[in-house]
Amino acid sequence: MSFKTDAEIAQSSTMRPIGEIAAKLGLKAETIEPYGHYKAKIDPAAAFKLPKKQGRLILVTAINPTPAGEGKTTVTIGLADALRHIGKDSVIALREPSLGPVFGVKGGAAGGGYSQVLPMEDINLHFTGDFHAIGAANNLLAAMLDNHIYQGNELNIDPKRVLWRRVVDMNDRQLRNIIDGMGKSVDGVMRADGFDITVASEVMAVFCLAKDITDLKERLGNILVAYAKDGSAVYARDLKAHGAMAALLKDALKPNLVQTIAGTPAFVHGGPFANIAHGCNSVIATRLAKHLGDYAVTEAGFGADLGAEKFCDIKCRLAGLQPDAAVVVTTVRALKYNGGVARADLGEENLDALAKGLPNLLKHIENLKTVFGLPVVVALNRFVSDTDAELELIQTACAEQGVEVSLAEVWEKGGAGGADLAQKVVNAIETQPNHFQFSYDTNDTIPNKIRAIAQKIYGAADVDFSTEALAEIAALEKLGLDKLPVCMAKTQYSLSDNAALLGRPEGFRINVRGITVSNGAGFIVALCGNMMKMPGLPKVPAAEKIDVDENGVIHGLF
Ligand code: ADP
Ligand code: MG
Repeated sequence: MSFKTDAEIAQSSTMRPIGEIAAKLGLKAETIEPYGHYKAKIDPAAAFKLPKKQGRLILVTAINPTPAGEGKTTVTIGLADALRHIGKDSVIALREPSLGPVFGVKGGAAGGGYSQVLPMEDINLHFTGDFHAIGAANNLLAAMLDNHIYQGNELNIDPKRVLWRRVVDMNDRQLRNIIDGMGKSVDGVMRADGFDITVASEVMAVFCLAKDITDLKERLGNILVAYAKDGSAVYARDLKAHGAMAALLKDALKPNLVQTIAGTPAFVHGGPFANIAHGCNSVIATRLAKHLGDYAVTEAGFGADLGAEKFCDIKCRLAGLQPDAAVVVTTVRALKYNGGVARADLGEENLDALAKGLPNLLKHIENLKTVFGLPVVVALNRFVSDTDAELELIQTACAEQGVEVSLAEVWEKGGAGGADLAQKVVNAIETQPNHFQFSYDTNDTIPNKIRAIAQKIYGAADVDFSTEALAEIAALEKLGLDKLPVCMAKTQYSLSDNAALLGRPEGFRINVRGITVSNGAGFIVALCGNMMKMPGLPKVPAAEKIDVDENGVIHGLF
């Protein structure tokens, strides 16, 4: 059997002019700012004046992923199309893709098959330029900081304790560690420096958590950029950088409206890393989707241990949002991978491995239901290689736990392939209890907050802190920056901090090696393992297969 590629399906779809999509949301032509024919920026101030819809918030999350991605974005888009298919008014809120994965291993992030947002080429490439604006704001702060040191260093910044790095939206390991400021004395102050990928910038996290431009500016000012030689903190506001940074982000902060293949409105806006940041699209886009739709469907990056936890404990807490249901995406392939099957063999039936991987799904369901108190539905994202026996095994196990599971065929059939899922999600919202709560209290100590996440969500026995982490915790307590939520930075492949421990590990300990603060974003980062803030390209980058022909048609994006 041969299937059309994501790009071929996207290119054979007919897009409606973006004004028609905006009209579905009740937005008048004068409130949208078109970027070409099929994309527009929406002024939130004008949109929030429209009458409020029911605004049910549905989070799409997943089991621990395999390296290929399990179809969260595909199911998010498919579920929203399916809700419209059964007559419900749905709106999507998604992250913008980063060029790193687009040209690296994973590929784009505009969904797949018949569940995609369009124009997928634009969304996956430069889109409306938001990431360039975010990179520019980040790099302005870097330039102002180094210039401050060069111009006499009134704040007495310790060049060895500069925390702020430069960014570029590319997987470029060559820039991970650099020496800059080389040359003559007029060429700056020489120091060890480095680049992160733009999506790992704190500016991205700030951008995604800001309520509006005033809040954005305030948060940008609060970014901790360096320490002075006497140990005191230096913030972006001390460098008077936050106003100009916010000015660079003024237009970027307006959510981007696009459409699915079926014409469902989708806000695609912001895209922070899901390990050292919180991994969700902008708060403004989520609130806009809720305001303008009866059902807002959104996604959080990675598995539910990272994505859903941060969505609830960081994003919802900071933005005052309350989810109405969680959809856990699972696949036969990912559960087999969690049961120990190598990536190359995932296409073959293996009921033993599937049964071994299943507890991973059950743990995530349990967390969402009992820790966060949410109604839960499982979306079993069907792949052509799945066998009936494998699908049945998952369905039976979920039924035994009293969880609704729906076989989602949205990749192959679009919204029509998710009608059952949509109905089950609507029913879950209407009939299952919702006792939404956070997994910890921000007023607790940093170690106790981390312990709560590790024990309740990951199922760890306990947490160990390195001497360095303990010193950093003491320093944050002294600065009064310890009452923030915690953003766990750990591997996405395991419930533990060891990527090799698949399924539902038990008795393990979580090792916190370091603690940093993203004070502008408003969270403390707990580093469990070496987090890569500047990925590299693989031996054969996806970029090698991407091309554009004489008609301007792009090929090879997926
Ligand atoms: P995630 O959001 O979990 O990272 P995506 O939705 O981006 O995952 O999907 C990852 C890749 O898998 C995409 O290329 C998509 O086309 C593909 N995919 C998703 N669901 C299916 C499916 N049911 N069958 C085949 N391919 C799929
Ligand atoms: Mg995704």
